Amino acid sequence: DMPVVIAILNSLTGIAAALTGLVLNNMAMVIAGVLVGASGGYLTLLMAKAMNRSVHNIIFGAFGGGHEGGPAGEATEERPYKQTSPDDVAISLAYAQNVIVVPGYGLAVAQAQHAVRELADVLEDKGVNVKYAIHPVAGRMPGHMNVLLAEANVPYDQLYDMDDINDEFANADVVLVIGANDVTNPAAKKDPKSPIYGMPILNVEDAKQIYVLKRSMKSGFAGIDSDLFYEPKTSMVFGDAKAVVTAMIQAVKQV
Ligand code: NDP
Repeated sequence: DMPVVIAILNSLTGIAAALTGLVLNNMAMVIAGVLVGASGGYLTLLMAKAMNRSVHNIIFGAFGGGHEGGPAGEATEERPYKQTSPDDVAISLAYAQNVIVVPGYGLAVAQAQHAVRELADVLEDKGVNVKYAIHPVAGRMPGHMNVLLAEANVPYDQLYDMDDINDEFANADVVLVIGANDVTNPAAKKDPKSPIYGMPILNVEDAKQIYVLKRSMKSGFAGIDSDLFYEPKTSMVFGDAKAVVTAMIQAVKQV
């Protein structure tokens, strides 16, 4: 949201300069101020439109701690969730037909890309169809996930952009969310009060079975709790992504 706020402040400096120009009767200052103010305002509207959110929501959405209030970085309420082990996930994976892997920032932190590639190889040997769903802002820089997975020689034709794969989640037997959080939060679609309401997300919740690999129930970059973790068909697998995926590889081999 910060670039939008910066654009608004930039626009306001132009308006301030234009008003000062009026007071000083300086026409050059008025024209320059109006140009800066108008272009900043236009840029703000364009960026808000690209984020699919209102300017009001961007500026005021996060005030009060965001969704339902509460400190950023921690789950705010005691809501029931399911937890499972890498061995159980391995059984689901080995007997699935279609598996979608959703990588996120945690995958990069754990440097688990090579382990993920190995897991996909083992599953493909068992006849499982594996695809990767890449959200445009997953990770911490544009193209972060593509670079990471390319480093592990994941075949390029297995990587699908959000718009290309979002309809396929409904046909996925298992979705493996690895270190991703905000980019899978259904609140972006369902909760108008959420600070990320309107942000396009991956339709992970449409899948038949969802496993989320992360270390805790803590939130991601946006600092808000994810509704996905509490879905009845979601199970959490806690631990460092690399260690958990490595354990899954061994377990899948034994199924
Ligand atoms: P998030 O930041 O939402 O979540 C990452 C998750 O990874 C955390 O919840 C964390 O949970 C988990 N994690 C961290 N370390 C590990 C580990 N070693 N093993 C397993 N899990 C781990 O990431 P997303 O990719 O879902 O979303 C990206 C966010 O970053 C978006 O909000 C986006 O707007 C923002 N952003 C993106 C930029 C881009 O250009 N791509 C630029 C700037 C911001 P836990 O601590 O419980 O393990």
